[in-house]
Amino acid sequence: MERIEKRNCPICDHYNNEILFRQEFVDIKEVTFLKGYEVVVCNNCGFLYADNIPGQKEFDLYYKNCSKYEVKADELTDSQISRFQASLNFIEECINNEEINFEEFRIADIGCATGDFLRFLKGKGYQDLNGIDPSPLCVKLMKDNHINAKQATINELEEHEKYDFIRLNAVLEHVVDLNYSITQLKKILNKGGYLYLSVPNVQGFKELVNCPFQEFSVEHINYFSKNSLSNLMRKHGFTLIDYQINHNKLYSWS
Ligand SMILES: [Zn+2]
Repeated sequence: MERIEKRNCPICDHYNNEILFRQEFVDIKEVTFLKGYEVVVCNNCGFLYADNIPGQKEFDLYYKNCSKYEVKADELTDSQISRFQASLNFIEECINNEEINFEEFRIADIGCATGDFLRFLKGKGYQDLNGIDPSPLCVKLMKDNHINAKQATINELEEHEKYDFIRLNAVLEHVVDLNYSITQLKKILNKGGYLYLSVPNVQGFKELVNCPFQEFSVEHINYFSKNSLSNLMRKHGFTLIDYQINHNKLYSWS
């Protein structure tokens, strides 16, 4: 049963928005949990987001039962390897990898699907690798590939778990309550640890072939620009170390 909720701005928490567009979805039995929503802009901070959507619990059920991120590949493809290497180069430049003890540097990849990036890191010498995903099948596939894996959403992580580096690749655009989720992340990130975020850039939507309406999907409910992501992270005490448009973003918590 779809339960629609009015949604305060997920960044500044005000409710003062302007409707830009109404998105409608085709009703597909047993998959559809969302018939549509309003794409709105926050008049207080300028953030663009989906309003009048179900709560996080209904999204969590959808990701648990209808995940589409379970494609198993025995070997990483050439295109994955080149993408992951570019990503790792960026990360290592930011975190000064000469100081990393590869045995003790704790890495978590949250919303990692089948953990392909972790498999890549394993081949590069990193050892304490932890995959976290809401899909039970993704977790099974990671374990089959000898990756330490746990079934959980971003909001179900336990405070005693601590990591030096957390990656969220294509995750924050799916989260209903961003402030709550970032607070949860801070609990499991070691002081001085690093957070790597990658999200679709709203300012690039106009360049897409299916622009811009396909970006307003059932799963994507937050539409970040560099400024809005920075507003969110600054609010929680993070310092921007470096960013790349169309590539990566890395923050440290100090
Ligand atoms: Zn706002």
